[in-house]
Parts: sequence; C-alpha cells; structure tokens
Amino acid sequence: MTEPSKAHLRRIPSVERVLKFFQEKGAFPEVDRAAVRDAVRESLAALREGETLPETDAAALLADIERAVAERLASRPGLRPVINATGVVLHTNLGRAPLAAAATRATAELGRGYSNLEFDLATGRRGKRDIHCESLLCDLLGAEAAVVVNNCAAAVFLILDTLGGGGDAVISRGELVEVGGGFRIPDVMRKSGVGLREVGTTNRTRLADYEAAIGPETKLIVRVHPSNFRLLGFAERPTVAELASLANARGLVFFEDVGSGALEDLSAQGLNDEPFAARSLAEGVDIVSFSGDKLLGGPQSGIIAGRKELVDRVRRNPLMRMLRVDKLVYAGLEATLRLYRNRATSEIPALAMLRQSPADARTRADRFMKKLRRMFGGEAVGVDVTLVRGDSLVGGGSAPHVKLPTTLVAIQVDGFPAEFLEERFRRADPPVIARIEDDRVVLDLRTVLPEQEDTLATEIQRSISR
Ligand SMILES: *Cc1c(COP(=O)(O)O)cnc(C)c1O
Repeated sequence: MTEPSKAHLRRIPSVERVLKFFQEKGAFPEVDRAAVRDAVRESLAALREGETLPETDAAALLADIERAVAERLASRPGLRPVINATGVVLHTNLGRAPLAAAATRATAELGRGYSNLEFDLATGRRGKRDIHCESLLCDLLGAEAAVVVNNCAAAVFLILDTLGGGGDAVISRGELVEVGGGFRIPDVMRKSGVGLREVGTTNRTRLADYEAAIGPETKLIVRVHPSNFRLLGFAERPTVAELASLANARGLVFFEDVGSGALEDLSAQGLNDEPFAARSLAEGVDIVSFSGDKLLGGPQSGIIAGRKELVDRVRRNPLMRMLRVDKLVYAGLEATLRLYRNRATSEIPALAMLRQSPADARTRADRFMKKLRRMFGGEAVGVDVTLVRGDSLVGGGSAPHVKLPTTLVAIQVDGFPAEFLEERFRRADPPVIARIEDDRVVLDLRTVLPEQEDTLATEIQRSISR
C-alpha cells in the first residue's frame, strides 16, 4: 500500500468536527456518546488508511462518514439487549430467563457498592459466601440444606465428584442423554471419575435392573430428567419412591438431576411432567440439582439441595471454589426466590410469559397489528401486516413437546424476501430477533416485554422504511 498523500489526510475532518456535526443534526440520539465517539474514531482511522477519498465536498464527506458510523454502531460487538420476538421463552442463545424487576433492582443495588458477601455482620468477622439463598431454598424445597453454583452442569459434576468419586453409579440407559450445548450425562460422569453402570434399555428399565447392577463399588443411584426428549409408547422406569427405597436398603445415595427446576405447578401450561425438586426430595431423593435460569426464572445458576450431611460434603469439595457464583447472581437469585415465597410469581417474566392465555396473546397481537398498520397506513411501500395462529416454545431444552398456542404478527413487504427482512430486523438497534414461517417474517409478542412494544414498532418501521 502506498503512503496516503498529505492532501488526502488534510481533507479528513477531526473527531470533534464530526461529533459537532452529529450533535447539530441530532444524529444517533439513542446511542451513548462514548460509543458514537469510538465509532467516529474508527471510521476516520479507516479513511486515513484508505488510499483514496471520494472526490466530494466536505458536506458529502460528512454524510459518508455518518453512514460509516451508523454501520459500525449497528454491528458493534459486545453484549447488548435484544428484543426476543421468537416466542421461545427460555431462549438459551438469547440469555434464557429475563429477570424480574425486583431481581434487576437487587442486582444493580448490590453491584454498585460493597456487600456482606463473605462478611458476618453479627460478629464483624469473615463470613461464608455459600450460605446465601440457603434458607429461602430450604423453605421453598423442604430441604435440609442447599448451595448455589455456577449452573446445573456444574451442580451435576460437583455432586458426582463429591459423592461418587472412586466408585460407580447406576443409571438407566434411557437417561444417558445429551442435554444441549454438548452437555452429555455419560461424559460428565466419566469426567467426574464416577464409573458408569448402565442398566435397562433405552425405553424400559425396571427396578430389578437396578438391583442386579449394584455392586461393592456402587455409591450412587442417579436419575436424570430427560428434559429435551420424550419416550412415548412402550416405555417404563421405576418411580422415584421405588428407587429411593432401593437406595435406602442398600445404603446408597440417590441423586436426581431434575434439570429445569419448576418451583410452581405449570400443568395448566401443559408442563405436567416437569419434576418438582420439592416432590422428589419428599419422595426420598437424597440430593437434587436444577438450573436457576430455566423454569425458575432467575439468573444463571445451579442449585444443589437435599440432606444436610450430603450438601455439606459438596460444600467442602475444593472444586466449589471454581464453581461458585458471583455476588450479582446471589442478589438476583435471592430476589427471585423471595417472589416465590411472597406468592408474587406473576412478577417473574418467564412464568408470566408461559402463563399468557391464548386469548391474551390474541388481544395483544391484534393491538400490535393495528399499531403497525396505522404506522404504515400512508406509505407507498406495500407492507402487509396480518395475524396468524402459531405456537410459542418453552425453550432451554425444557419440554420440547409442549406447544403454547399463540397469535403471531406476520409482516410481508413487497420486494423484500423474508430472509432480507429478518436480517434488517436483526440489524436494528436494539436488534429484533424474529422467525420466518411460510416465507413470512413472524413476530411472537409472548417474549416481548411490555415496555419494549413501542421500541419494537419503531424499529420495525425504521427497518422497512430506510
Ligand atoms: C438444562 C439441564 C442441565 C444443564 O443445566 P445448565 O444450567 O444449563 O448447566 C442439566 N441437566 C438437565 C436434566 C437439564 O435439563
């Protein structure tokens, strides 16, 4: 590359000049100033490195720079909020459960300053971090003890490592599942140093299969909720109570990975075979694990609960230091658990979304359709907004068979293929994540937060009109 000429460099305006231009015309009002400044700096640096500058006047050059800045801002890296219009409630790629207002408040407040994370306010001495959330969890689950780790995968690993290390565990072949994101139960068991004693067949495992497999090295009976798939037809496995009494009779620990961790009855939503950790513990499971950011609706975390002697052993495992959670997670989780205890679960967004009735979904979609039609009313472009029936999904690897009836808002624009429109929505600010069905872009408002609705409408209009 040749050295850029001095004349070329002289024509490039300064960062301040460009910022002043943006300020005067009110460009990028919704983006924070530091981000705009960075984008300007990068755009000007790219111009300086370029070999030629378009032969335009200063005003046209500023307009070119504005376009370059807009593109940079739209594709800027970093973690940012998006509007989830997919209707997948616990969308793992979009951060699973949105937090309750009480949880975001608690997180912000705790994060802003110092806290008693590991400080005992009664004695003024060093305290324990792993006790936070314990009493709430014990209350809600009817457990003797509980501890929080980074996620459910960590919880499973830690339990197996602590209680099964050096020995083996009996598990049904029907439960050797891959939960998603490469989390395979058999691989995790091997990594934790626990020998795998597979029993039964994919579709049928009987109590006698477990009995026959128990050997001198056996330490655990493991049961896993096969969250993301279902066996229909000729299938059976022993009940929790049967396995509990077998484990008890043979002096083994009975561990159940319940996975999604519903704390409330969701059978009206068709989630009737979601195991409750509380019920499992009541039926004789010694120790359970589940996620904090699936059906519980809190921040990413893994919860371990059960008999005190076992949970305390888990707590003392040196690996706990690596799998522990941050103060922000405790703050968000505690605030979420409090909503359960205060019977205010309608304030937990994931639960409210799952419980939205088909009639409410229809009313909301209809209102939104009319709003969009009003916005596009006078336009020359052929924009067609209609309602179609569809289904929302639970997501997060939970209950793949459950379809939540919903009403979708379908958008078609003359001359725009659905893929093109979907991409434009994705490049909006905030990005709008939609799906394509039958060659149409469809929006499912179930997962759009009520306060996002106006922004969603504005961004759709901008994406189509620009
Ligand atoms: C989702 C799930 C996990 C993993 O949970 P994360 O919190 O994502 O680590 C483990 N076991 C079961 C049964 C699950 O459903």
